[in-house]
Amino acid sequence: MKIYIVTDSEGLSGVSSSSYISEEKGRPDLIAESRKLLAAEINACVEGCVRGGATEIVVRDGHGGGQNVTRAMIDGRADLIGGQTPGVLLADLEGSAGLILLGYHAMAGTPGAVCEHTMSSKTWQNVWINGRKTGEIGICAYVAGEHGVPVIMVSGDDKACAEAAEWLPEAVTCQVKKGFSCDGARIPAPEKSLSLITAKAEEAVRKAARCPLLKAASPVTMRLELVSRNRTPVNPAYRILDARTWELTQETVEKAFFFNL
Ligand SMILES: [Zn+2]
Repeated sequence: MKIYIVTDSEGLSGVSSSSYISEEKGRPDLIAESRKLLAAEINACVEGCVRGGATEIVVRDGHGGGQNVTRAMIDGRADLIGGQTPGVLLADLEGSAGLILLGYHAMAGTPGAVCEHTMSSKTWQNVWINGRKTGEIGICAYVAGEHGVPVIMVSGDDKACAEAAEWLPEAVTCQVKKGFSCDGARIPAPEKSLSLITAKAEEAVRKAARCPLLKAASPVTMRLELVSRNRTPVNPAYRILDARTWELTQETVEKAFFFNL
């Protein structure tokens, strides 16, 4: 049984603010710390997947440019995908029995959520897919659904877990911290969050076959509201709603997100 883990860093247990993860605004000592935390959470999750019955595990380092952990930091029972994979969100996802979203965060605008944003905190305000406001949990679940893979587990703060429960009621949620603001959280001892991740991953893998796919009706209309001015697209495929809001219709969620990139 193949299990695919995609990581983000905002939802890691020890990460209480963007100072731990932002390339531009981050503190180098805290960024180094978050990379160790990421490796520890990945390895705790791999252990749980093996206990649950996984025989092939792929880890996609998904935050920023996808180079947050090195091969040497990751459990030898998993393969690691880092760097760029043009045109696809989750390379080599095909054939997976389940997708785990590890270290994820709530969608842009969620009150009290650590590092809340959707895709880009600098340039993107809100995203809707077929009229429903969607965060990265939903986007990943839709894309995985298009590849026939269900999301079986989501880890992050309490707000990310609540969002996962709303979007993916059959998926296992794993709360590893409590958010107070975009830049504030209550963090448990690492042993607690790591053993919780292992236990939840095992549970999720065991019940993977019972998790449904999240499917967006095709064609898919993505609406994007930007933060920044002067970025209105000129390609006629986009319907311009106002200077900072436009829509694009494509066959799939994945094609809409990778259009023109
Ligand atoms: Zn991220």
